[in-house]
Amino acid sequence: MCPARCGGRLFRALFAEVEIDSGGAYQDHRIVQPGYVCLNCGSPAFDLAEVPDEMAAEAEADEVPTAADILCPVCETLVHVEADMECPNCGAPLEVG
Ligand SMILES: [Zn+2]
Ligand SMILES: [Zn+2]
Repeated sequence: MCPARCGGRLFRALFAEVEIDSGGAYQDHRIVQPGYVCLNCGSPAFDLAEVPDEMAAEAEADEVPTAADILCPVCETLVHVEADMECPNCGAPLEVG
């Protein structure tokens, strides 16, 4: 989509290979690298299909680690857990926080 939100719906792929037949007619194309320009306002555009991955990666990086060292109430082993899980020693369910 256009990052300037100009409403343009046509884009030009900057890095694409176009297959043509012997008469020069368009047959197919292949995007070599993701790079686009909005044909309406000229802004560099991006492929929405690839954005969720990037956002997920950023969200992952921003995520505050919830790891904690807690004492198992059953076997009294100090266990390091990153989320609610079972005690690796005795299998008792543990709650973090
Ligand atoms: Zn635009
Ligand atoms: Zn335990």
